[in-house]
Amino acid sequence: MSGPRKPIVLSPVGAVLAVVGAVTGCALPEPAADDAAPLLIDGGTVVAMDEAGSILEGGAVLVQGDSIAAILDRDAPRPQGVRRLDATGQLVIPGLVNVHGHAAMSLLRGLADDLPLMTWLQQHIFPVEAELVAPDFVYWGTLLSSVEMLKSGTTTFADMYYFPFDVARAAADAHIRAVAGPGVIGFPAPDFASPEESLAAAPEFLERYRDHPLVVPSVSAHALYTTPLNVVAAAAELASDYEAVFQIHAAEDATEEAQSQEANGMGVVEALASVGALRRGTVLAHAVYLSDEDIATIASSGAGTAHNPQSNMKLGIPQAAPVALALAAGVPVGLGTDGPASNNDLDLFGEMDAAAKLHKFVSGDPSVLPAETVFRMATMGGARALGLDDRIGSLEPGKQADIVLLDPRRAGLTPLYAVYSHLVYAADGSDVTTVLVNGRIVVQDGRVLTVDEDEAMRQARGFGDHVREVVERVAASSQEPS
Ligand SMILES: [Zn+2]
Repeated sequence: MSGPRKPIVLSPVGAVLAVVGAVTGCALPEPAADDAAPLLIDGGTVVAMDEAGSILEGGAVLVQGDSIAAILDRDAPRPQGVRRLDATGQLVIPGLVNVHGHAAMSLLRGLADDLPLMTWLQQHIFPVEAELVAPDFVYWGTLLSSVEMLKSGTTTFADMYYFPFDVARAAADAHIRAVAGPGVIGFPAPDFASPEESLAAAPEFLERYRDHPLVVPSVSAHALYTTPLNVVAAAAELASDYEAVFQIHAAEDATEEAQSQEANGMGVVEALASVGALRRGTVLAHAVYLSDEDIATIASSGAGTAHNPQSNMKLGIPQAAPVALALAAGVPVGLGTDGPASNNDLDLFGEMDAAAKLHKFVSGDPSVLPAETVFRMATMGGARALGLDDRIGSLEPGKQADIVLLDPRRAGLTPLYAVYSHLVYAADGSDVTTVLVNGRIVVQDGRVLTVDEDEAMRQARGFGDHVREVVERVAASSQEPS
């Protein structure tokens, strides 16, 4: 661990904050209301993830409303008239950013494991989704995942799923930041009979959530192997018109490239570039099978990629995404868990550990993707991939107050020599004690404050009974002689 490596940043925070020495009061504050007194998270080791990689022992983060007002080092005078959250002994990190997933699929977790991607999707997931996925399913599945993500330190997740209004409603209820919105796929989906209908309805969502404090509008297309290029192009254009994030699975499986060559006369990345789908705010999920030319194309476009190492490994993708090459080329690379049915958890600490080790393993080089690089991927990298790096991803004045406290005072994390090493290789989501999203405390003492967790689990068990019935019926019908 090092001391502060750059000058203290103390931005103007309004006249209410006279800077005159240490503050008093130590009770944990109530969730912040907009008009509440500023909150000082004081005494922890602040891992800022700013450009310089500042780590401030005994530092403080001043939160005013929904934003970070100042970062203070150990010796800086503390403002008066604030509520104080004692972070002594804890690590204070930016909220983690999960750049790719399908949150509602928590209700399908463990349903069909240990199968190849196309078998898993086409014989298990798609038939069950066609029958079961409805607004309530999506709401409760997303809410359940939001609890899991918040409790393990994720404050922003990017989602691709059906019934986006219900995804957004769950995220807003849980008070987690979500990149979500309408999507298209080239066959009848649970929410729309055709991609054209989905696109026609999409502006309603994009307009309703244009300025929402937590929901960042997005348009997604499932993939080129399920969705014709002209439909993908229309979705990308709509996203661009609304300055929304555009998400698509790309180059996840070895068959995609040949399929795209046959259908479009071009590879996956080339085809996406040809219709203007690559730009800042476009996220290519997986991006495993990329040529050097593809990486150069993505880098020059400003698009980002979502690296999902555990999903790729679990689905037997036999090579690793070229993450080190993409980073070297300047591509924003974030980390994603993918859906809970293909991982099978949403803990980004596990994802960081897997990412760091996977690339060392396949390259035979332990210096590839060092811990700090991987932690940056899970924070600023994800923010950049989503085009949200001016709002989230680091602890800096002016950014949204998405902040996580983690307690390293347990046997598995003691002693602590190197912060990033512990964060990537040794910590896990259960070390998280406190989470703020948009300035509000949503997890305290490891307990989520915004959601009735028992009720969410009760609902999930109810959906689980329906899923079992459908799976048995689908299995029985697939065995009937045709
Ligand atoms: Zn996915």
